[in-house]
Amino acid sequence: MNQQSIIHAQKAWSECDAIFIGAGAGMGVDSGLPDFRGKSGFWKAYPPLAEMGIEFEEMANPHWFLENPRLAWGFYGHRFNLYQKTQPHNGFHVLLTKFKEGNIPMFVLTSNVDGHFQKTGFKEDQIMECHGSLMHFQCIEECGQPIWPISPDLHLQINPDNLLAKEPLPSCPQCGSLARPNILMFSDFAWDGTRTYDQKQKFEKWIEKFKNKNLLIIEFGAGTNIPTVRLTCEEVYQSAGNHFIRVNPRESECGLKNTISLPMGAKDALKAISENQ
Ligand SMILES: [Zn+2]
Repeated sequence: MNQQSIIHAQKAWSECDAIFIGAGAGMGVDSGLPDFRGKSGFWKAYPPLAEMGIEFEEMANPHWFLENPRLAWGFYGHRFNLYQKTQPHNGFHVLLTKFKEGNIPMFVLTSNVDGHFQKTGFKEDQIMECHGSLMHFQCIEECGQPIWPISPDLHLQINPDNLLAKEPLPSCPQCGSLARPNILMFSDFAWDGTRTYDQKQKFEKWIEKFKNKNLLIIEFGAGTNIPTVRLTCEEVYQSAGNHFIRVNPRESECGLKNTISLPMGAKDALKAISENQ
């Protein structure tokens, strides 16, 4: 760990006027959420899928809602239950404190579908969820029902031996057809992107507002595998940012000028950056 990088990051953190946050899968790992990278990590989290030989890219596919809705909801329901019972790690609260008590405007771009920024206390209008949200549903028949938020007391019962969800499965409030999460899956041509599109409009407005200020971009755990968050953070830095901190224990390198790389986890990085302020 380069102590000089921490000092640079602390300076950028204390002097900025606004912060743009990019969060990838690594942001959730410190809360104890499973890492789906690679077969072994995924199958460790889902032993019944290991037995069936189904990998993440294959399971995260909308065709299961037609072919085996109970398995589809077993998989997403398990994740939903897990996200509900997991508390966001302290790094989320360090950010929220800076936003609320430090009075520093913030906008969050996340590829995570766990709703953990909202759960921490960030507001809907300062978040863009580029892969959608597991906390919102859409109708599988596309009957015209707009995306709706899940009921907070929803708890799906799932058989741990075969990962099948118990019926009744979530359904559309308008037509009664099967509901599915409003998450962008693989080969997903039926994903309803309207909610994410609205969020994108807010994101663009926010950048426009703060592009001439001392804007700090901090990216957490956004890898090169699905690089949406990583590339967007680089674009925001190049077009509107003053400082860029990339936090990533494995892929912290950055080809751009004057960036700060912290090869560590999100929680530890936020603790280090915000210390002695
Ligand atoms: Zn419907």
